[in-house]
Amino acid sequence: MQQTRISHPFLDAAREVLPEVVALRRRLHRIPEVGLEVPRTQELVLDAVREIGLEPTPGIAVGSVTATIEGNGPGPTILLRADMDGLPLTEETDLEFSSEHDGRMHACGHDTHVAMLVGAARLLIDERHSWPGRVLLMFQPGEEGFHGARFMLEEGLLDQSGGERPSGAFALHISTLYETGTIDVRRGPMLASADTLRITVRGRGGHASTPHTAVDPITVAAEIIIGLEVMVTRRVDVFDPAVVTIAQVLAGTTTNIIPETAFLAGTMRTVSESRRVALRADIRQVCEGIASANGATVEVDIEPGYPVTVNDDAFTELVLTAATEVLGEDAVRRLPAPIMGAEDFSYVLQRVPGTIAFVGARPPELDPAIAPMNHSNRVVFDESAMAAGIATYVGVARRFLSGVA
Ligand SMILES: [Zn+2]
Repeated sequence: MQQTRISHPFLDAAREVLPEVVALRRRLHRIPEVGLEVPRTQELVLDAVREIGLEPTPGIAVGSVTATIEGNGPGPTILLRADMDGLPLTEETDLEFSSEHDGRMHACGHDTHVAMLVGAARLLIDERHSWPGRVLLMFQPGEEGFHGARFMLEEGLLDQSGGERPSGAFALHISTLYETGTIDVRRGPMLASADTLRITVRGRGGHASTPHTAVDPITVAAEIIIGLEVMVTRRVDVFDPAVVTIAQVLAGTTTNIIPETAFLAGTMRTVSESRRVALRADIRQVCEGIASANGATVEVDIEPGYPVTVNDDAFTELVLTAATEVLGEDAVRRLPAPIMGAEDFSYVLQRVPGTIAFVGARPPELDPAIAPMNHSNRVVFDESAMAAGIATYVGVARRFLSGVA
């Protein structure tokens, strides 16, 4: 693949530290932790950061770690992020460094993110005499739905560099969607907003044989499901799209009872903040209108998840240039459309212009059509892709700090 053919000083240096990076990744992989408190992971990260000669700061509000690398003099600050948390599922990869904990797995590759960022930090330290400014390393817990980045921001993340606040921010996310050693990125919306819907329809219970004496919440819920999907096709501009999926339907206890309530739950996704606001109102209107037309009532609870992840145009161009220089142009692509997953790096990008990019890590021997995806209990990442990731972190940081567009 690309890494074996292309040569660039950053990529060559990344390949040299790869064995240590792989070892760290495997140590992390064995002990996945979920949520905002990840004590064993945090300890490993603190040790790894100390080992490369930095003074890490553990978080107080959440189990995070930050550290700063000073360059050769005054200059801007760039923030580089890795998330650290795992997911609640049982690993079935048969890897020799598989999770030691049933029900917990690094199935989204956040272990590789930590290892890549430590590797990149090492290379940046080795060359710190040749670049100005500073690098703020952000190791965050709780990316998988726990708003870890938001807690770190509230705790003063952007004031922790010891110098200027970050004026650029960059993160990588590993993915088996793309072949190993590649970078995929786009300007503007990169990932979707993700809010959770919980809809409770209240009717009037009764005997299943005499529905006219009851108000059946199940038929109302069924109408609401269809009504929401029709609403999306009729009211949402296809060029500012939305996804509404009802993923859970709960009602009833047996065959001869009309229950009192029916419960629906699901997700709403958008790629613009204005659509997100409008869609929330549209969903309420459809639910309330249908319930009222049927003599029922409805409670619509929309729990805010992550905002849209929006990549900065200029920073993304810098990432494309840096990645192309380091990995070669065949390894770097502009994503044609956003991915409808969500990321809490969105909170950082609301405050600091920056970019998140995907680093491809699909093992070459796997058929793209059936390769297990991120979040699968069988997902396997090609570890050699981490060299591309390390080199990209270094290339982006060096280009940004040296002020070359
Ligand atoms: Zn992830």
